[in-house]
Amino acid sequence: MSRYIATRAIRGANALVSEAEAMLNRALAEKGPETSVSFPNTAYHLPLIFGMTGKEIDTLGQLPEILLHARKLLHPVPSERQWTPYLGETLDSGMATLIAAETIEAIRYVYGLQPERMPGFELAGGTAFTSPDMEGAAEAALDGHLNGAIDDIQLRSWGIQLVDGRMPGFAAIVGCAKSNEAAVQIVRGLQRRNILCFLSGNVNGRSIIDQLNEEGVELGYDTYTVPFGTDTISAVYALGFATRSALTFGGLKGGQAREILRYNKDRVFAFVLALGEVDDLKYAAAAGAINFGFPVIADTVIPQILPTGITTYEHVVSLPWNEIDGADDLEKAERLVQKCIEVRGVKVQVANVPVPVPYGSAFEGEVVRKADMRVEFGGRNSRCFEYLRMAKLDDVTDGKIEVIGPDFSGVEAQGSMDMGIVVDVAGRQMEADFEPVLERQIHYFVNGASGIQHIGQRDITWIRVSTKAVDAGFDLKDFGKILHARFHSDFGAIVDKVAITIYTDPDQIDKRLSEARVAYDFRNKRLADLTDNAVDVFYSCTLCQSFAPNHVCIVSPERLGLCGAYNWLDCKASYNINPNGPNQPIKLGRICDPDRGYWEGTNSYAKIGSHGVVEEVAMYSIMENPMTACGCFECIVMLIPEANGVMVVSREDTSMTPAGMTFSTMAGMAGGGIQTPGVMGVGKYYLTSPKFISAEGGFGRVVWMSSILKESMSAELKIVAERQGDLELIDRIADERSVTSVEELLPWLEEHEHPALSMDPIF
Ligand code: SF4
Ligand code: ZN
Repeated sequence: MSRYIATRAIRGANALVSEAEAMLNRALAEKGPETSVSFPNTAYHLPLIFGMTGKEIDTLGQLPEILLHARKLLHPVPSERQWTPYLGETLDSGMATLIAAETIEAIRYVYGLQPERMPGFELAGGTAFTSPDMEGAAEAALDGHLNGAIDDIQLRSWGIQLVDGRMPGFAAIVGCAKSNEAAVQIVRGLQRRNILCFLSGNVNGRSIIDQLNEEGVELGYDTYTVPFGTDTISAVYALGFATRSALTFGGLKGGQAREILRYNKDRVFAFVLALGEVDDLKYAAAAGAINFGFPVIADTVIPQILPTGITTYEHVVSLPWNEIDGADDLEKAERLVQKCIEVRGVKVQVANVPVPVPYGSAFEGEVVRKADMRVEFGGRNSRCFEYLRMAKLDDVTDGKIEVIGPDFSGVEAQGSMDMGIVVDVAGRQMEADFEPVLERQIHYFVNGASGIQHIGQRDITWIRVSTKAVDAGFDLKDFGKILHARFHSDFGAIVDKVAITIYTDPDQIDKRLSEARVAYDFRNKRLADLTDNAVDVFYSCTLCQSFAPNHVCIVSPERLGLCGAYNWLDCKASYNINPNGPNQPIKLGRICDPDRGYWEGTNSYAKIGSHGVVEEVAMYSIMENPMTACGCFECIVMLIPEANGVMVVSREDTSMTPAGMTFSTMAGMAGGGIQTPGVMGVGKYYLTSPKFISAEGGFGRVVWMSSILKESMSAELKIVAERQGDLELIDRIADERSVTSVEELLPWLEEHEHPALSMDPIF
């Protein structure tokens, strides 16, 4: 252990704790101890402090105790003659630094100084995110603000990608790269590997955030690049994120510091990349990260810390920029990224997709604005569809990509043209049931290309290609190359041959589109016929056990996984792709209780799958043995006893609910793999299923529902209302626009004659 690092970290920690104390004293004097402190949209208070100490900090007045704790963790700077190993002291100082940093950020929120406003900060290409069709735009920096703390909604929506390995980990990048080109290359290198980039800090006032901004890199949640703030202190949000992953997905409680740190070390593949000169505060913050098992890689000369008990790899690695092998900054940046991945042992899975633009899931959320667009297919001015069909092995030439019709060179800039993508798939293990499962992947596969935006599916597909992508050489055939590469890499077990035909010839499109529509109709009918009673196996999903060790989803045709990403057909396909994987068939056997949804097979599986935590699971009840949840549910269903019904809260809804809690608070009760009667995390399409809490009377029990669900699912809910025989049913359900407390709820329901009021008591 280097005395140099210990000295500097301890010095940095002492300084920051003192700074936090001074700020707090001032804030207490100016604002008063009752002033509330919080980060936006989180149920975890100040998350790092909550995780490490168990203290639920909600007011300024609670903070002095916390800083006292931080001060106790401080140590004197080692003297010249002292030769003890300093690791313990360094780690303590690191923890004190994080606590002080989070305190400072919390106080800054009180003063409106967080999230940070960038003077003259402008989004790449201006701030023209005005078109409503551009959903998923980079909200993070929308109004000239950096991101500040990450909210729980985002944490949960990344959850499934974190667990299924699509997102292997995160990089906390602190400082400023050697050049703008290097900055872009580092971030692109991480994005290509689907590693989240958290950006913070500066060197002499210049931040990597400035560099990326100058180069027009789109920052935000959707592109896996989150700008926290331009000082080192804001890097604490990365550790708050790490703490919350353990709380959200690992079922851990605030105060279980040891377990939280261990969880991160074992399951969260993260590292710190320190760019540019490392000062005392950066050493101190780095020492904080080492507590989590996150190594620090620096591009300057600093002493290294080799493996000890905490990590099996190096804690601190120095890879000085001018010593990195590489002809130019671009090559050096790529080497640096590789080194980071090596040190932390990040498991990266990337398909090699031979297209002339950067490729990876980090680009999935990228938006192509009209001004940056070369050509679009579908949308308002043209038709676009995609259709994947099973074919006989002999009829498919693997890798054949054909374009039938003209390319887009004749289309004026920002113009549009018709296109149809037909994918022929053959494989010994292929089944017609997998067609829709595979077809749905086209959206993700195409979106992975930087500069290509894909929205919708089937005959409402809408694809935009940016001028930048076309300048780089992207053409129609590249759609085929992407699909060919990804279907082989992701679905190799059921896909032996793939051929792609791109149609742009209008006559051909007419013909192919009507064929596709026949298939879409056929599949719709197949789905409608696919009921729980029509099958003899359900599927388990244990994908989330890497994060929530005792949680199992049981997926049936009429109840999809709570993340919304896996339905019964997906699980069936996944089982065929990987027979030892997370989706196993559950033979139903004898039905014990058709109303609540008990089978011999589901019960015995629930016990095994949950490692004995759950004895029985009712597929259709919220009150008796409800299914457990990990952390990635789309909605929470919760009993409102006073109203004899339930409310449904969307993950996207941040407002107050009649239960007196917001989604974030309830999420803590719903997750973690524990059965809680009256609370359930569900996928939103389960709401429309005839089997939705049918044990309690079904959809008629829904008395309150987030308006975003009503709006985004209006077509599906209309069908439910028809099924329930009450066309006004959805209008009888309250939402946050009309009702935010249980006192308001009851008269509202009476006025709107909600059916739940006259149903049997729910318990
Ligand atoms: Fe996780 Fe359940 Fe979704 Fe599987 S179905 S990924 S276990 S939430
Ligand atoms: Zn999950």
